[in-house]
Amino acid sequence: MNIPFLDLGGINARDRAALITAFTRVLDSGWYVLGKEVEAFEREYAAYCGTRHCVGVGNGLEALVLILRAWIELGVLKAGDEVIVPANTYIATILAITENGLTPVLVEPDPATCNIDPARIEAHLGTRTRAILPVHLYGQTADMLAIHALAQKHGLKVVEDCAQAQGARHAGVRAGALGDAAGHSFFPTKNFGALGDAGAVTTNDDALADALCALRNYGSHRKYENMYKGANSRLDELQAALLRVKLGRVDADNQRRRDIAGRYRREIRHPEITLPVVGTNNEPVWHVFVVRAPARDALQAHLNDQGIGTLIHYPIPPHQQQAYREWKARSYPVTEQIHREVLSLPISPVMSVEQVSAVVAACNAWRGSEC
Ligand SMILES: *Cc1c(COP(=O)(O)O)cnc(C)c1O
Repeated sequence: MNIPFLDLGGINARDRAALITAFTRVLDSGWYVLGKEVEAFEREYAAYCGTRHCVGVGNGLEALVLILRAWIELGVLKAGDEVIVPANTYIATILAITENGLTPVLVEPDPATCNIDPARIEAHLGTRTRAILPVHLYGQTADMLAIHALAQKHGLKVVEDCAQAQGARHAGVRAGALGDAAGHSFFPTKNFGALGDAGAVTTNDDALADALCALRNYGSHRKYENMYKGANSRLDELQAALLRVKLGRVDADNQRRRDIAGRYRREIRHPEITLPVVGTNNEPVWHVFVVRAPARDALQAHLNDQGIGTLIHYPIPPHQQQAYREWKARSYPVTEQIHREVLSLPISPVMSVEQVSAVVAACNAWRGSEC
């Protein structure tokens, strides 16, 4: 059986007719940037997340970049301020901080959940710390109650990186409504993906939302009047129209992912494979299903031989990237071990019961590091 890591064509084919209708509506409207579709999507996605505002932007990276930029413009942050961030995140989270002349302070994750470890944050707080940027990695929210307690105590802003967690909840509250602001990515492979690049910010902060509306559009609230040195980072009308079609499916698709994750967690039994742990108060959406194995490369080769596609999220931690070579001498042992051991199994709303069974059987049949 051939099981791709992710069948994106199959995922979008389910909505073929509705997507074509939406495309045709935008085509015929003659209006392609910042119009009715973006406005409607922003309303609908804010309602979905449970926030007052949603501002559509070009992609997930720019959602995070522009949140921090807006706070610089509003005098909340200034160059050189420190932002607490997990050491084992995707590079975009870190880029958003350095792009603004702010300083990322990398904090090790909890090895069980792979999310930032709140118990380790306090030791990293200094006089320049102004914000915490937790990432809801792999589709599971970070420990937001503990992070909020710290943020309140020390007067810090909290920005969620929601790129992998659309629809996830923490203590009943949706990702995107768990901080002062949240950056979302609708990159095609995410749980809620467009057919190209797209992103958004959700927030209850009126001043922030107002600044973002200008910053994404050359820093302009009114045509040809520029309040800020802004960016061109707008959510397309076309992507907004397609996302409106797909929003109706997010909860059911996430439930399907939970069902598959439930089977993996019950049925994969192997002394050399560690299954993911769900933190307290968490309702994850399993953007990826990440197991750990000291002999990870052998497990990946074995699954590949069985026709099962897997990926590594991620092979190289940010502090070992060439882009951040100034951090090369640093050591983050928990992060480094995670990067050596993780492997993402196929999980998606279009996987069949038989495919899930085949992945379970292949994992359980692995002969382990001995062979
Ligand atoms: C995908 C992703 C991003 C960036 O989103 P883009 O839309 O690709 O720019 C940021 N953070 C995390 C954790 C991601 O997975």
